[in-house]
Amino acid sequence: MDKYVVFGNPIAQSKSPLIHTLFARQTSQTMTYEAQLVPLGGFQAAADDFFSSGGRGCNITVPFKEEAFRYATQLTERAKLAGAVNTLKKLDDGVILGDNTDGEGLVQDLIQHQVELKGKRILLIGAGGAARGVILPLLAQQPAQLTITNRTLSKAEQLAELFSPYGQVEASALDDLDAPVFDVIINSTSASLSGQLPGISEQLITPDVICYDMVYGSATTTFNQWAQDLGAVMTLDGLGMLVGQAAESFMLWRGLRPGAKQVQRELRRIMQE
Ligand code: NDP
Repeated sequence: MDKYVVFGNPIAQSKSPLIHTLFARQTSQTMTYEAQLVPLGGFQAAADDFFSSGGRGCNITVPFKEEAFRYATQLTERAKLAGAVNTLKKLDDGVILGDNTDGEGLVQDLIQHQVELKGKRILLIGAGGAARGVILPLLAQQPAQLTITNRTLSKAEQLAELFSPYGQVEASALDDLDAPVFDVIINSTSASLSGQLPGISEQLITPDVICYDMVYGSATTTFNQWAQDLGAVMTLDGLGMLVGQAAESFMLWRGLRPGAKQVQRELRRIMQE
């Protein structure tokens, strides 16, 4: 039986075992996928044990994504630029390939909701690990402009500089964003987790704007509720990104693309029970 696992700390809340079990059932794959709590400082030992006992691939979540980046013996381009790895796969020659599927998960979720990114003006709020992981896949969709803003402006500036060879990307202070010029606004901050707003002007929420909050839960997120109240045409939360990144990992491991839509519906139903 092919073995897969997700490593994290904490891990009990992880939806990944459920998502991958549903993917495996849907595509008739014979595999196991479990969650494993790893003590801080114990990632390398856990990964060594897993791969030496026949493990085929793993997901990595908070706080081990940078350690997984260093653990990989080969990296995809998107993982290199993300500076973090959420998926490892053991190849036949023993190479441990590190990938980052978070950004593609976001893009696939937007595509699934018929959100066009080509030629559009995107605002990305936040400059942490999640933001860094999605910039390259967003730029690959050829937006007219990607603007990064963050409470700590210097971090947004660093990301804009890092990704400037890959597309039209700039940094802007939260206070400088007052004209409604964006088609898609993506909140990659963790502000909603504490019931806070990320600090952009209300004027940016026009009737045509599509808002995406990477946070998800059983209720509408703080940011999406705010955007809805201001009349945004569409709001999406990060559940689709979660399922999307899992689908990309599954694809890397098994060579099959599972149907993310059906699993997302099932997960939403379970979360609301
Ligand atoms: P980091 O800790 O690396 O970064 C946090 C970011 O949020 C920083 O830009 C920080 O700003 C900003 N921030 C935090 N609190 C506030 C606030 N009250 N007001 C304004 N800005 C704030 O976290 P990650 O980037 O790894 O993750 C961010 C969020 O994305 C998390 O909530 C996580 O759950 C979610 N996520 C969802 C995924 C999905 O699949 N749906 C995948 C990955 C992440 P500053 O730099 O100024 O501190």
